[in-house]
Amino acid sequence: MCRRRVSLRPAPSSGRQQEAVVRAHHGYYIPDKLEEFGPTFLWVPLKPGRSLMDWIRLTKSGKDMTGLKGRLIEVTEDELAKHNKKEDCWICIRGFVYNVTPYMEYHPGGEDELMKAAGTDGTDLFDQVHRWVNYESMLKECLVGRMAVKPIAAPKEITSVSEEKKQLNVGHGVCPSGMLPEKKILGASSKDLTPSYDWFQTDSLITIVIYTKQKDMNAELVILDCEDKLLRGEIIVDDYSYLLEVDLDRAVQEYVAVNIAEKVGKVEIILKKKDNVHWKILGQPLENHNTFMKRTDRGLFYRKCKLVSKTEVTHDTRLFCLLLPESTHLRVPIGQHVYLKQIIAGTEVVKPYTPVLPFLPLDFQEPSCHDSAHIYLMIKIYSCGLFTQALDHLQIGDYISVSNPEGSFKKSQVQTSEDLFLLAAGTGFTPMVKLLHFALTEVSCLRTVKLIFFNRTEDDILWRNQLQQLALKDERFEVQFILSQPIRDWVGKQGMISSSLLSEFVKRSRKDSKVLICICGPAPFTEQGVQYLKDLGYSQEEVHPFTA
Ligand code: FAD
Ligand code: NAP
Repeated sequence: MCRRRVSLRPAPSSGRQQEAVVRAHHGYYIPDKLEEFGPTFLWVPLKPGRSLMDWIRLTKSGKDMTGLKGRLIEVTEDELAKHNKKEDCWICIRGFVYNVTPYMEYHPGGEDELMKAAGTDGTDLFDQVHRWVNYESMLKECLVGRMAVKPIAAPKEITSVSEEKKQLNVGHGVCPSGMLPEKKILGASSKDLTPSYDWFQTDSLITIVIYTKQKDMNAELVILDCEDKLLRGEIIVDDYSYLLEVDLDRAVQEYVAVNIAEKVGKVEIILKKKDNVHWKILGQPLENHNTFMKRTDRGLFYRKCKLVSKTEVTHDTRLFCLLLPESTHLRVPIGQHVYLKQIIAGTEVVKPYTPVLPFLPLDFQEPSCHDSAHIYLMIKIYSCGLFTQALDHLQIGDYISVSNPEGSFKKSQVQTSEDLFLLAAGTGFTPMVKLLHFALTEVSCLRTVKLIFFNRTEDDILWRNQLQQLALKDERFEVQFILSQPIRDWVGKQGMISSSLLSEFVKRSRKDSKVLICICGPAPFTEQGVQYLKDLGYSQEEVHPFTA
């Protein structure tokens, strides 16, 4: 039988620790002021029969989930506000209203979290906590209808639909951009930052040039896909995304090249024509073409990647190697994750995973050679896990959807550090892999790099040999394994994350060393670790918790 493992711990009992507890959360605790480190989301233990799979089954059962017998209605703000109780709860997300009453007991964050948006527009709250969750698919049977549009004063100038749909840049040779009405989702003050583009052609190639006005452009900031005639590009400029979305005039080959002039911030996208004929236009603009919007406001874009290998890491963890399409340019930056999407029992399910390297390189002479065609994911398969069970059933050659990268970690956080501490629990090791390699290879000011790796048993330790070899090879690096449930004669350290343990292992190498402490594992582990570090006097800038 499948037993739900609740990895959250009961609130601590010692007097000092109890002071840190500000609010009980279904028997678990969120340490004081943790919100400073970003939005928090804790799982609560769900009642038996209330898993995501159970929810999917319920939605497929034919039960009337909205109480409207399948009818869709227009919902006014007043009407929405009336449905604000647990037993009658409607929530609006991006203009669509859902009756989430039947979902209450299935919500992994608990009923109270859901109730925060009861009878209101919950879009912002939803985006803060789990923007990536595919609610359209999960809640489709709960759809009540759309919000009624409020009458608004007519705008001074209306851009006609036919104008919006105008073809892109007619003519040949270098064409100026801006022949379309600009559709940028930014205030006037940001206008200077807005990239622009041109395109030109030779007999065999189409070149699109984007002027980003960003000095330190690099390959990780450009994500590109070209499938059939559809071109989709995202250029990241600080916290904003510039999007190119074009239905190309003619077919191109399954190939893209990206050239970047880093110093001037110019990006060239090169496509190979399928038939060497002259293009009169680049193509038709799609909805988000030539827009510049906050990164967090653009949707997640997925492409299908092929599973090319699956290798054992431990008894329950595997290294999945995915091949990107030839016409995709995507590099996942250090400390960022991607979302995988699978259809499970007819519902789209999305989960985040942090790419790793295929192994820990021991040669630090040169920065790692970038294998940009593959994404490696180290994934623990849970015996009752909805998503990981489906992943484990994928066959070599099968395809899975992979999103653009997301995450808040910036390389610059480690580039000036002298001491780097990595606190990892279980698969919380994954963001540490690329970070460790980058630190030892490219950060010359680092004096010490210490990984403190928490696992239950010896058999659970990921890449133990590789880590030990790395420690032998590089005297700056040290690894400490700590087991919570050792089963054989374990001479190493035993225990859980605690203030005393952190004060023993996390120490500046010099009194005024610049330190960075990265922490990742089960959410309560990360949250407790952050609190202990704060209690030990480390500042917010010195601690980076990895979360979704
Ligand atoms: P679920 O069906 O969600 O269940 C997993 C386990 O948790 C089961 O044992 C289940 O019984 C238990 N469980 C589920 N819900 C609850 C609940 N409400 N209360 C208590 N217990 C519960 N994982 C990796 O292996 N590798 C990675 O690189 C990785 N990167 C991540 C990056 C980020 C940013 C985040 C947030 C998570 C990452 N994860 C990673 C975790 C991953 O996203 C999934 O959560 C994990 O794979 C489990 O998915 P699942 O659907 O198989 O399991
Ligand atoms: P696990 O095996 O359950 O736990 C690893 C170690 O952490 C064990 O020693 C365990 O001790 C300890 N631990 C578990 N819960 C704890 C808690 N509440 N407080 C203190 N210690 C705790 O870990 P896992 O199954 O690999 O899970 C890894 C987690 O990391 C997942 O939740 C995943 O979502 C997360 N993750 C996040 C990111 C990210 O945000 N970027 C990336 C990768 C993974 P005991 O089992 O003995 O209690």
